[in-house]
Amino acid sequence: MPCMISYGLLAGMKRIVSAIDLLLPRTCIVCGAKLLSAERHICLYCAAEMPLTRFWKQSHNPMSDRFNEKLATGISYACNASCREPYAYAVALFTYHAEASYRHIPYSIKYKGDVRSGEYFGRMLGSRLIKEEIWRDADIVIPVPLHWTRRFRRGYNQAEAIASGLASAMGIPVRTDILIRKKRTRTQTKLDIEGKTRNVAGAFKAGNCSPEEYRHIIIVDDVFTTGSTLFACFTALRTVFPPGVRISVATLGFVGGA
Ligand SMILES: [Zn+2]
Repeated sequence: MPCMISYGLLAGMKRIVSAIDLLLPRTCIVCGAKLLSAERHICLYCAAEMPLTRFWKQSHNPMSDRFNEKLATGISYACNASCREPYAYAVALFTYHAEASYRHIPYSIKYKGDVRSGEYFGRMLGSRLIKEEIWRDADIVIPVPLHWTRRFRRGYNQAEAIASGLASAMGIPVRTDILIRKKRTRTQTKLDIEGKTRNVAGAFKAGNCSPEEYRHIIIVDDVFTTGSTLFACFTALRTVFPPGVRISVATLGFVGGA
C-alpha cells in the first residue's frame, strides 16, 4: 500500500509539472525550443554547443589582457613602485559576438527578469572556478551594483543573480553592501570605449568593511565588453583594499573583438 501511495503521489506530481509546462511552456534561453522535462533553462543541444571560454584554466587570457591594459593606463597610486597593481585575473563562462544566439542569455537575464537563469549560469561558472588553484582562494563575491532608482524600477539586479549562483557554487558569501553606485549613469550600449569609461568614472563608492577582511575579491557582472564598468568598480574597491588584496572579475559573457 505505501508503494501505491508513493506511485500515486509521483504520478500526481508529474501531472502537475506537465500542467505547468502547458501553461508556461519552458523554452531554451538560446534557441527558443521547448525544453524536455529534464532540461533546465537551456536545451541539451545549445548546452553542448556553448562557446565556453575555458579562461578559468588560464591566468592570462584575452579578457584579462584587455582588463589589465585598462588598469595599467588608468590606475595611479600616490605611493612608490612597491604598491604596483598585480596582474588581475578575469574570467567569463562563454564568448559571443553581437549576432550570436548566445547573446540571448545575458539579454533574458537583464531585460526579461530571468533571475533563475542568472543564478543557474552563475553556478555553472562558479563550479568551474572552484576547481582552479588561482580562483579557489576567493573569499567574497561582489556584484556590480545598479543605482538604487534603477534597481527599484527593474525590481532586481541581474549581476546580483549571477553573483549569487557563482558564490553558492564556490561556498563563499555575496556582499552587496560594500560597493554602491552613487551616480546614475546613461546606458552604455551606444557609447564608444572612451565614452563608456568617462560615463562610469566615479560612479561607484566602496566602504562598509575593513581592508583586512578579505584576501581575494571577485567582482561579478553579466557581460564584459570594454571592461569600463568593471574598471570603475575595481578602482572604487582599491580605495578600501590595498594591492595585497587580489581583485578579480568574472562575467557570464565575453564579447570578443570589442
Ligand atoms: Zn537550445
